[in-house]
Amino acid sequence: MLILPKGNPLKSIVSAISRVRSRGVPYKTIFFAGALDVFRPMVRQISKLGLCLHGTCPICHCNAVFEFKNLRYTLLKCETCEHVFVCNSISSEDLEKNYSRSDYWEEDKIHRNIHSMEPGPHWKEFVDRRINPMRELNAMPPLRRSDGSRSRILEIGSSEGIVLYHLSLMGYEVYGCELNQEIVSRARKYFSHPVIVDHFLSHDFEELRFDTIISYHTFEHLTNLREIIRKCSDLLVPCGSLLFEVPYGVEEYHNYDHLHFFSEKSAKRLMSDWFEDIKVMDGSYVTIHQVKCGSYFVTGKKPEKGTVR
Ligand SMILES: [Zn+2]
Repeated sequence: MLILPKGNPLKSIVSAISRVRSRGVPYKTIFFAGALDVFRPMVRQISKLGLCLHGTCPICHCNAVFEFKNLRYTLLKCETCEHVFVCNSISSEDLEKNYSRSDYWEEDKIHRNIHSMEPGPHWKEFVDRRINPMRELNAMPPLRRSDGSRSRILEIGSSEGIVLYHLSLMGYEVYGCELNQEIVSRARKYFSHPVIVDHFLSHDFEELRFDTIISYHTFEHLTNLREIIRKCSDLLVPCGSLLFEVPYGVEEYHNYDHLHFFSEKSAKRLMSDWFEDIKVMDGSYVTIHQVKCGSYFVTGKKPEKGTVR
């Protein structure tokens, strides 16, 4: 096995190749992305000469400057909260095009270290590393509300629904929200909990309120993040929790499915107008391809009375 010293640019290329190969990206695409990675410091220098693009941070509204160019988008980095984001405007139709494809689950399952939708022991690690942080970060509601009814959990971007399936086995009333009709239809064979097949932001939840809202590796794909967090707050009961997981790290810059690349600061700032008791936990893990994936679990509580702002 080839072992490369830390900080070696070749190592970052090998790492990028391993990651994107697991997502089925052709080698010539990977080579180009890897080459861009090596030249990134040079591009940063050019940006300092005044040739960079500028923009406004979607999290804290401060100034952002050129950070990177991947194969599809230009990325800007906020000078205040260090959030990195795609500066190109993305319509909801584009998002739907990206995630409504029937083969999305099949492509993504390798990245998620799983091989089949059917419940079974092969899901254990996947489910544990999502449900355990709910406990560790105090985002797991009691099974029953004070009136005796079951506590409700909503997952945004619930995909096939395996996490909700396990939470329902524990005794919770669970709901999914998922854009991809094809995945939801396929999962019906194994799971029976209700799934809202719609955009989270535009869907009318009417009187439905939740004790906890969870979302794993979804927010980095979405536009209008502040509106999403505000809507989560609106849909939670007082003292309800929001917990989401997002990736971080410069290796992610090659992944042009992602519109946001969080810093610990930007994750906290995103929550701070609507939530209190905000915590960020490092949830980095190593895939079966021995590639480290950086991720943050972010959580906060809706105030008991009134709002934070
Ligand atoms: Zn910012």
